[in-house]
Amino acid sequence: MVHSGSARVPMLPRRPLSAVLMLAAAAGVAGLLALWWRQTPAERLQSLPDYLVMLAQITGLVGAYLLLIEIALMARFPWLERRLGSWLASAHRNLGGYLVLLLCAHAGLVIAAYSVSLNATPPEVVVSVLRTYPGVLAATIGLLAILLAGFTCARSIRRRLGYEGWHAIHLLMYPAAAAAFWHQLSLGAQFSCNRWAAVSWAGLHTVVAAAVVSNRLVIPFLNNRRHRFRVSRVETVGTDVVSVYITGRHVAELGAAAGQYFRWRFLARGLWHQTHPFSLSAAPNMDTLRLTFKCVGGYTNRLKRRLRPGTRVLVDGPYGAFTGILRRQRGVVMIAGGIGTTPLRAIAETLPGRRRDIVFIQRASKTGDLVLTRELEALDRTGRLIYIPAVGSRKNDPLSADRLLELIPDLEDREVFICGSAGMAAATVRNLRRAKVRRGRIHTEIFDF
Ligand SMILES: Cc1cc2nc3c(=O)[nH]c(=O)nc-3n(C[C@H](O)[C@H](O)[C@H](O)COP(=O)(O)OP(=O)(O)OC[C@H]3O[C@@H](n4cnc5c(N)ncnc54)[C@H](O)[C@@H]3O)c2cc1C
Repeated sequence: MVHSGSARVPMLPRRPLSAVLMLAAAAGVAGLLALWWRQTPAERLQSLPDYLVMLAQITGLVGAYLLLIEIALMARFPWLERRLGSWLASAHRNLGGYLVLLLCAHAGLVIAAYSVSLNATPPEVVVSVLRTYPGVLAATIGLLAILLAGFTCARSIRRRLGYEGWHAIHLLMYPAAAAAFWHQLSLGAQFSCNRWAAVSWAGLHTVVAAAVVSNRLVIPFLNNRRHRFRVSRVETVGTDVVSVYITGRHVAELGAAAGQYFRWRFLARGLWHQTHPFSLSAAPNMDTLRLTFKCVGGYTNRLKRRLRPGTRVLVDGPYGAFTGILRRQRGVVMIAGGIGTTPLRAIAETLPGRRRDIVFIQRASKTGDLVLTRELEALDRTGRLIYIPAVGSRKNDPLSADRLLELIPDLEDREVFICGSAGMAAATVRNLRRAKVRRGRIHTEIFDF
C-alpha cells in the first residue's frame, strides 16, 4: 500500500492545441464549402443529375482536403510531435474512415449523375469518363490505393500483414494524393475558373509536400550524417527480448527524451530495407541510445539473429509526446503491459521524487512475459520506485478497480502512465475510471500502427 502528496508543474497546452488544430481544420472545410457556394448559382441546379453533381463536387472537395490533412498529420512537424505525439496518429487513424467514405461517395455520385443524364449503365460511364477526362485514370488508381490502405487498417488484416506490409501500403498515400491534386486542378470546377482558389490550393499542397520531404527525408539524412550511429552492444535480456545499445556523436543534440520513440533502420543483411518504431528503453545520455525489442514477427526475429556490434544505424526521430513532461502530480503510477514496459522504464528513471512517488506495475498473463524485471527490481532496491508485478489472466484481472485501489489508496491523486497493446490499455483505462481517476490524468501510449 503506497501514498503520496501532490505537487504542480506547468501544464502542457495539449488540449487547447489539439482544439485549435481541429478548429483550423473545420475552418478549412467551411472555406471550401463557401467557395463552392459562391461558384454554384441556383439556376445550375435544375435536375436530378445537377444535384448528384453538386453532391459529388462537395464530397470530392472535402475528401481531397481530408486527404491533405491526413498527410499533414503524418508530416512529423517536430514542434507538434513533441506536444501532441500519439494524438496526431490517432487523429490520422480516426479521420481515415471518413476519407474513404467521402471519396467513395464522390466516385459513386459522379457515376450516378452521368448514368442518369446519359442514360448509360455505370460500367459504360466508367469507361467513357476514364477515356475522356485527363487525370481521372490516375485519380481512380489513387482512390484504389486509398481504399487498400483503409482496408489494411482493420485489426485482423493489420495483424496478418505485419508492420512492414501495412507501412508499404500506406506509402501509396503519397502518389495517391499527387494524383488527386492533379485531378482537382484539371477538372475541379472550383479551381479551373478561379485563379486565386487554384493558387491557394496549390500553395497548401506545396507546404505539406515540403514539410513531408523536409521532416521525413532531409532532416533525418542530415542528422544521421552528423551523428553516425552504430550498434555498440546487443544483449539478450529475457526470452526473445533483446536490448540494443547504439552510440553516436553529439547524441544530446537530438533533444530526445525518455518515453519517446525512433524509427530505426539497421544497415545489415536482411534488415536494411525496413524501418520499425521502437521506444527508448533507457533515458538517453551524451552518446548512447538504447532500445529493447521483443521478437514477435519476421523482422524482430531477424533483428535478434543478425544484429552485431558495429552495425550502422539510420535513426529517424525522436517522435512522440509520451514523456515525463506530462506529469503534473507528484504521485505517479506506471502500468506496463509486456514489452510496453520500455518507455515507462525510461521515464521512471528520469522522474524526480522519493520512492513512494512512483509505483511501477507490470501486467502480464504469465511470469515469462514480464520484461526488464531485473532492471525494475534494481530501481526498486535503490529507492527510485516501487515495483509491483501483476500476473494473471484477463478473467481473473489483477488490475481490477478494487485491486488497484487496494494497492494504491491515493490512486485518484496520481498521474497515470499506461503503455501496452490497445486491448490492455483500454481495459486498464476502464478500471482506472471505475476507480475514479480523472481522464485528464491518464496518459496512454499504444504500440499499434
Ligand atoms: C510508437 C511505437 C513504439 C514501439 N516501441 C516498441 C518497443 O520499444 N519494443 C518493441 O518490442 N516493440 C515496440 N513497438 C512495436 C514494434 O514496432 C513491432 O513489434 C515491430 O514493428 C514488429 O515487427 P515484426 O515484423 O517483427 O512483426 P510483425 O510481422 O509486424 O508482427 C507480427 C505479429 O505480432 C503482432 N505484434 C506486432 N507488434 C506487437 C507487439 N508490440 N506486441 C504484441 N504483438 C505484436 C502483429 O500484430 C502480428 O500479428 C512499438 C510500436 C510503436 C508504434
